[in-house]
Amino acid sequence: MKNSDLAFVRRFFIYSVLLVTVVIVAIFVSYHTRTEQLTESVLLQQGRALHSELIMTRRWISEHGGVFVKVRPGVDPNPFLSSLPGMKVNITDESGQMYTMRNPGLVVREISELAEESGTFRFHVASLKPVNPKNSKPDPFEVRALQAFERGQTEAVTIENGEFGPTYRYMAPLYFEEKCNKCHGFQNYEEGDIRGGISISIPMTEINQKLHESRLFSIGAGSTVLLSLFAALYLLSSKFMRRLTDVQEELARLASIDSLTGLFNRKVVIDRLREELSQSERLGTPLSCLMMDVDYFKNINDRFGHVAGDRVLVAFSEILTRCSRQYDIIGRYGGEEFLVILPGTDLETAQKVAEKYRRESSQEPLCIDVMEIPLTVSIGVAEFHAADNESVDSLISRADAALYDAKRSGRNRVVTRRD
Ligand code: GH3
Ligand code: MG
Ligand code: MG
Repeated sequence: MKNSDLAFVRRFFIYSVLLVTVVIVAIFVSYHTRTEQLTESVLLQQGRALHSELIMTRRWISEHGGVFVKVRPGVDPNPFLSSLPGMKVNITDESGQMYTMRNPGLVVREISELAEESGTFRFHVASLKPVNPKNSKPDPFEVRALQAFERGQTEAVTIENGEFGPTYRYMAPLYFEEKCNKCHGFQNYEEGDIRGGISISIPMTEINQKLHESRLFSIGAGSTVLLSLFAALYLLSSKFMRRLTDVQEELARLASIDSLTGLFNRKVVIDRLREELSQSERLGTPLSCLMMDVDYFKNINDRFGHVAGDRVLVAFSEILTRCSRQYDIIGRYGGEEFLVILPGTDLETAQKVAEKYRRESSQEPLCIDVMEIPLTVSIGVAEFHAADNESVDSLISRADAALYDAKRSGRNRVVTRRD
């Protein structure tokens, strides 16, 4: 396989891995962003619901002009209410049990203390002009929210890390109503004025823990999917590369051999001759080549048919292969012409090798099916003239000329060309 092909497959693999990673990370991020948005919207709904529940509680108490509760240890008359002019805040029944009044503000504050004890949520009534600064003084979030309400905003939310851990904070305004004058008359509010607000605090520790678990689960699932995909992609691409290499090798092999005889084809044998010539030049070793041509091959075709002629060519190739030495290079040069390269061989030895090829080929007729086909071959031998810097073409034409001489002088012989 060529380097560029390998680089292409590698690039394809890397880009696929990157693409899949980006897609999975994008799915993961959008899934979690969406989950967080949904969680926040659920918390907002919860904040609104609690707020309106408190408003309704306040309204109910205020519509009934306050509620009376039994005075007992821990439940005492409220000094602020007692100080208001014209208000009867303490009453006693026939048995002598004393009852004291709770106005909406006090009831809500006491519910807030109960909620805080239960740990589910907390709320706080705050005002920029508190009647009772000890209880209604706003914290920094509430100050910002109340200021925003003054500018027309109707809700404020934030997530902060408070003393009880991460907390969702919601605040909405309390509007002044006619009934509020009973306790707040001295503050000179007008109907519809923002008198303060109720802030709701919902602890997020448990929700965050659940979100964290879900994030961990997604990371685990995402990583498993990614790893499986990478492994599958890796296996597929390496299998693909192996197959590609095999196919390319097979194609290269097919492109270099002659389909009938299985020997090198003309192009490859000439390329090999060029390589061997430069090596022989570099190393200073001799090199010879043999040009062979089957005698009267046209007659063989005519007498026994083309199929038999083909089989003669195959049989002759097998004889060449059988008689060749390890370093001899054999190729089909043309129809019934063959070129044999003999590296490291001088002219004299080449002549002997050629003689052996000729003898082996013509020893006895070839037996093809039931036919006995006589076979002889003429061979021209030439040695590479390294000193003259001889070219491939020149060496081949000298071997060809020797072959021509062999044909002219009667065929079935070896002729050596020295010039
Ligand atoms: P010479 O002794 O002078 O070489 O005579 P020849 O008949 O062998 O030479 P010639 O060039 O006249 O004929 C070669 C024939 O080889 C002609 C061609 O049809 C035949 N031939 C070429 N390739 C193939 C082949 O692949 N299969 C077969 N069956 N015949 C082929
Ligand atoms: Mg010929
Ligand atoms: Mg011939």
